Amino acid sequence: MRIGIDLGGSKIEIVGLDESGRIRLRRRRPTPQGDYPGTLRTIGELVATIESELGQKGTVGIGIPGTESTIGKGIKNANSTWLIGRPLRDDLQQLLQREVRLANDANCFALSEAIDGAGQGAAVVFGAILGTGVGGGIVVHRQVLTGVNRIAGEWGHNALPELANESLLPRDCYCGRVGCIETWLSGPGLCADHARHGGASLTAEEIGARAATGDAACDATLQRYERRLASALAQVVNILDPDVIVLGGGLSNIERLYHAVPKLWAAHIFSDVVHTRLLRNVHGDSSGVRGAAWLWNDH
Ligand SMILES: [Zn+2]
Repeated sequence: MRIGIDLGGSKIEIVGLDESGRIRLRRRRPTPQGDYPGTLRTIGELVATIESELGQKGTVGIGIPGTESTIGKGIKNANSTWLIGRPLRDDLQQLLQREVRLANDANCFALSEAIDGAGQGAAVVFGAILGTGVGGGIVVHRQVLTGVNRIAGEWGHNALPELANESLLPRDCYCGRVGCIETWLSGPGLCADHARHGGASLTAEEIGARAATGDAACDATLQRYERRLASALAQVVNILDPDVIVLGGGLSNIERLYHAVPKLWAAHIFSDVVHTRLLRNVHGDSSGVRGAAWLWNDH
């Protein structure tokens, strides 16, 4: 059995996958806010529960909103700030008495979709999360590409390429840079762009729904979004040349992106023909926890 854990800011989810990748059991608990020992204890209890209910032990993989630093073993880049600097993997290995594999949650998303989701059978998969933030992960031949700095696929904090037909005032990003892709292509980025063009204060979901029923202002906002997404993904294609790009996060539910963006990205891609497919995720909210389990793909 492969056990996957998704350590999120608000909940901790655990699943046990059988050999074929089917979820045999799923459990959820609220994340103990600001409480590192409590977080460890909760994970230990969840693993014990799943193993006793299913009557077998499993390998353990965990996805977190951050990554392990290359200096020491502390966690970095986590928005669950009580994890920062903590040797989470070491502590879990001691607690669970086995080797634990840990990865960024965007990498887990990409892995899950590469193994038995939208990217199944593809050699190179880029997973892009368009949600509260913008993240990404790369999977090559069913293995996560981590990178020497452990940031492979983190395209959200590249600057958005400037488009010929619009001049953008760069926006401050929480990371300290200006004009990051995340400030335009995240859900809050989409909403802010709509408001800046005189639109009402709407959620990303409402903008998508209204555009689908003929609202001209919402349609224009999505057209701007599609142009920016196409140029940002074209940079990924020019560097990585993936077979498949899978979208995740709340904005991946906007159906028109899958038709509009591939028509627009060709202009920015250095190739006569573009075979890269842009696909919606298959596993939805379960991708993170499933991908964490699949970190033990080689066993
Ligand atoms: Zn940034």
